[in-house]
Amino acid sequence: MARETLIDSHGRRIAYLRLSVTDRCDLRCRYCRLADDKSYAKRADWLSFAEIRRLVGLFAAMGVGRVRLTGGEPLLRAGIVDLVGELAAAPGVSDLSLSTNATQLARYAARLKAAGLSRVNVSLDSLKRECVSELCGRDSLDATLAGLMAAKAAGLAPIKLNMVALQGVNDGEIESMAAFCFEHCFILRLIEAMPMGEAGRAAAYLPLDEARARLIRRFALQPCAVELGGGPARYWQTADGRGQVGFITPISQHFCASCNRVRLTVDGTLYLCLGQEHKLELRQLLRGGASDDELAAAIRLAVERKPLSHDFDAPGLNRVRFMSKTGG
Ligand code: SAM
Repeated sequence: MARETLIDSHGRRIAYLRLSVTDRCDLRCRYCRLADDKSYAKRADWLSFAEIRRLVGLFAAMGVGRVRLTGGEPLLRAGIVDLVGELAAAPGVSDLSLSTNATQLARYAARLKAAGLSRVNVSLDSLKRECVSELCGRDSLDATLAGLMAAKAAGLAPIKLNMVALQGVNDGEIESMAAFCFEHCFILRLIEAMPMGEAGRAAAYLPLDEARARLIRRFALQPCAVELGGGPARYWQTADGRGQVGFITPISQHFCASCNRVRLTVDGTLYLCLGQEHKLELRQLLRGGASDDELAAAIRLAVERKPLSHDFDAPGLNRVRFMSKTGG
């Protein structure tokens, strides 16, 4: 198949696929999913590795070379190392990464690296045991720290640490998290909570402008001259360039005009926007015998309908999907 590019009707080039390999998770982060939520995709509807490989191959042939495995918690999907190996070797996949809470990473890091994974993003919102337990529903701090150190030892790089900043919960820890990341050469990324599902709407949203000003003062940060990563984060760095902090502000300063991604759920639904319902059901097409050309045509048509922006701030509008279902 000839290599093409995927461009939506607003002129944005789609180059990045977030691929959820499971909607299950061993944590219950309060802003992500409700504690008692059990509305999982049916096992029979999970895309098989062969189906995932086929879709990733089609996306890659259309110029979508960056793929991030996510979930739910992707390390809970049985055979994840084999899948990483297959996708890392797929023609056209130029950058394969993984988002994880790292509770299982200590036992997987070296094997993931050997299988061809380039880098990881680790979610950690606090370095305080009580805060982690309260926020994630489990005392997972030691496991996550062990996972982070194993990733570093395995040579996965860069390691980005994602911290959702929450008013009155962990906002007092932003400087200490930055110091921790600088010490270990992790790139800190601060994220504003999005009102996704009931869990996200209940989150104590904190706009990042004040935290950014505090960090700039405390660490004498300067804007990064070069763009880091292919995503929405705006990066700042220490004077020696060794410490970096990215700010992801989907609410206070949204970046929809440069959005370059789409998301595929574990049951094969392609979402065009985190904050809108536009979607394409690829599983039915795959299992109904669609040819590669038919699948590619359906994907192109769906991408053309990618909305210009989310509408999280529209009054009275409630997005029901949890982040854990869409794949963060
Ligand atoms: N389990 C993996 C992890 O912990 O990174 C991958 C899935 S998780 C849904 C991906 C990212 O989404 C995490 O960094 C998490 O903090 C973030 N996230 C979840 N719900 C969110 C929300 N309502 N607003 C902003 N970020 C959210």
